[in-house]
Amino acid sequence: MLHESAEARALVAYSAVIGGDPLVIQGPGGNTSLKQDGVIWIKASGTRLADADKHDIFLPVTLAPLRAAIAADDPACETSAGFVPQDLNPLGLRPSIETTMHAVMPQKVVVHVHCVDTIAWAVQRDAEVRLATLLAGLDWVFVPYARPGLSLTRDILARLQPSTSVLVLGNHGLVVAADTVAAAEALLNEVRRRLRRPARSVPEADTERLSQLARASGYRPAADPAVHSLATDPVSLAIAQGRSLYPDHVIFLGPGVVVLGRDTALANAPPAVPLLLLPAIGALLHHTASASAAALARCLADVTARLEADEVLHRLGEADERALLDWDAEKYRQALALRGQS
Ligand SMILES: [Zn+2]
Repeated sequence: MLHESAEARALVAYSAVIGGDPLVIQGPGGNTSLKQDGVIWIKASGTRLADADKHDIFLPVTLAPLRAAIAADDPACETSAGFVPQDLNPLGLRPSIETTMHAVMPQKVVVHVHCVDTIAWAVQRDAEVRLATLLAGLDWVFVPYARPGLSLTRDILARLQPSTSVLVLGNHGLVVAADTVAAAEALLNEVRRRLRRPARSVPEADTERLSQLARASGYRPAADPAVHSLATDPVSLAIAQGRSLYPDHVIFLGPGVVVLGRDTALANAPPAVPLLLLPAIGALLHHTASASAAALARCLADVTARLEADEVLHRLGEADERALLDWDAEKYRQALALRGQS
């Protein structure tokens, strides 16, 4: 149980608030932490910040041995599971994949989000240059894409200054750090305000045609109306069709997206892809698609609606996608996220 301090209660409450906002957190993405009494309390892998006020989603990780292991480049901190006192982990959960990233930040409170406005900046090829103007005056660094986990933590360590309190993670998201939850919240709000990008207004789905086509197909129209712009807005569709833009897309929807050709019958679509786009009509989700897949479909719609056709994007490479899909720690998170739905 996370200590019943005022800061712990504030972290739980704030985690639930940001976890409930799809423009900030999607599915089991993102994580928050609090360092107190030699321990870092961090979200367990595969759990959802949105559930922070309903379940005990935080695990304690002993900080000094974890930091020593990071400094020694010990592969044991890839999952950090060995640093959780087992008597405080009755469910046998693992700490977040991103625990080491939180551990190397000196501040007491670390908040990591997949804010869609930040992602829309973080996928720009010239992100660092453009962000320098927007974030001027803040103590921030840009960290080019690296696989989340120890690889990313090493790259962060190479750039981190003792006073750094904002990290923009290329093709990934945002980290803010402060010594209180209130200060972290204020900093996150400030960064979000500066990075806000207007969402394009997008055509609606042809719901009648979509339902008709989906009948007896194993697919259903995406329940969240915001998802359909991936198929109905030509700019969003063109951007979505390239290689993947950030890790959780690959983890929960697979690499890229599948678009049904205008003259292709749904029966000839690739079998059981989680998300299927029908240009100018709308988006379908397979009946086996998880709630996390639906959340990441919405995320892609929100990100692409904030990108312009002429922007030059940096995308994940095939090797990046493969590294995410072959990764044990991610398979664990995905399995837990699925179990959490049942
Ligand atoms: Zn992340």
